[in-house]
Amino acid sequence: MDCQRCHGKMVEEEFSDLKDDSGSLNFRGWRCLLCGEIVDSVILSNRSHRPTPIVSRNRKIMAYH
Ligand SMILES: [Zn+2]
Repeated sequence: MDCQRCHGKMVEEEFSDLKDDSGSLNFRGWRCLLCGEIVDSVILSNRSHRPTPIVSRNRKIMAYH
């Protein structure tokens, strides 16, 4: 897997996150060896499920004028 920022080599790692109320939360993710960018499965799913912006609706309204 290549880094989306610098296209460097990324390695799979296991991270610990303390944001969870139940204590530490371990998750698997990818870390870039060059710039240190960290990508986990949650970030990846958020990027793919991003809602479409409302800009298209504004364009329709402007077309009436
Ligand atoms: Zn990178």
